[in-house]
Amino acid sequence: MSQGETLLVTGGAGYIGSHTLVELLAAGHAVLVLDNFSNSCAAVLDRVAELSGREVPWVEGDVRDTSLLQKVFAEQEQRGTPITAVLHFAALKAVGESVAEPLRYYDNNVAGTLSLLSVMQQFKVLRFVFSSSATVYGEPTALPYVEDHQIAPTNPYGHSKAMVEQLLRDLCQAREQFTAITLRYFNPIGAHPSGLLGEDPHDVPNNLFPFITKVAVGQLPALQIFGNDYETPDGTGVRDYIHVVDLAQGHLAALDYGRKQSGFHAFNLGTGRGTSVLELVAAFERVTGAAVPRQWAARRPGDIAAAWADPSLAREVLSWQARHTIDDMCADGWRWQSQHPDGYRTASPSAPVRGDPAT
Ligand code: NAD
Ligand code: UDP
Repeated sequence: MSQGETLLVTGGAGYIGSHTLVELLAAGHAVLVLDNFSNSCAAVLDRVAELSGREVPWVEGDVRDTSLLQKVFAEQEQRGTPITAVLHFAALKAVGESVAEPLRYYDNNVAGTLSLLSVMQQFKVLRFVFSSSATVYGEPTALPYVEDHQIAPTNPYGHSKAMVEQLLRDLCQAREQFTAITLRYFNPIGAHPSGLLGEDPHDVPNNLFPFITKVAVGQLPALQIFGNDYETPDGTGVRDYIHVVDLAQGHLAALDYGRKQSGFHAFNLGTGRGTSVLELVAAFERVTGAAVPRQWAARRPGDIAAAWADPSLAREVLSWQARHTIDDMCADGWRWQSQHPDGYRTASPSAPVRGDPAT
């Protein structure tokens, strides 16, 4: 089962990173997490260890700390388990915040990636899987989005992702053995079916699904539905929601592909199906039996009416496709939220196997 790989997972304690760790460990890989815990906590890694029955070594640190990265890569070499590929999740991700604090976003997301890539180059690590976003496409010229849709982000967060993609294209051009797989995520929601892992926003959520679950659990009074007059079948915004476990599995497929193929490759990770705000709320209430009080509100500035993926390239090239339904996403997301009203600050249902700080 083991493919003898040791993978560096930056941002592995975050929402998508933690779900991906479970899949990487199940596939027999060894992982090393680097996270500064700016939007997560080490308890997440205890949960991953508990679920996997495997050690989850981690280092607390920042990807912009180049000397720390050098130490991490060197230590892995000395242990005889060199890092062979990097999955780079670590980033800031709030669109509104990126408009207010662009320098912070470019520093964290772009300079952080530069620091990581430079150390990878020094240690001759040739495979990189990057967490990009459908937001790089901007206003759709046609739907569904295909990978060669124009790249025209409309906010600093999206620009930070597009800049890293460009940097990776240039790097692959210059170093023919280097492989960069950039995964353009659509709207990840839901949680691990065990109920042990999930999304844990520290402030009032910006995104629809965590807002719904916080309303349903009674922590927020009502969902504001941003706009009822879009050119969509019911007037509310349409997005391509994807179960976070499907998304996590897409990373395994990307890693495998990167073993055979060098160069820059971009893939949409979505389901190919659009769901409106009203449809998602109705599915959530039906599946969970929980009520979601809601009210109409003005359109959110910068929102587009509809966005969904053409996921056929990932299906054909990576042999990956999303399998979970909207109902699965609602059931799993609710299991996590209802069992953990305070996220990872809620006590664990059983004693965890501890993840180990690696340094
Ligand atoms: P998250 O905030 O839950 O996870 C990001 C993790 O990175 C956190 O644990 C945080 O502490 C860590 N981190 C941030 N900056 C760091 C730094 N400089 N050094 C070390 N660690 C750092 O976010 P997520 O939802 O899991 O997103 C993961 C990735 O996927 C991000 O790159 C994000 O931009 C991208 N993405 C997310 C979505 C989404 O809707 N969640 C959609 C598209 C793309
Ligand atoms: N939305 C909403 N109320 C909220 C949050 C989001 O009506 O509290 C709508 C939003 O206008 C969009 C959809 O839900 O049509 C998805 O928004 P989200 O922020 O989750 O994803 P993104 O817009 O970044 O794709």
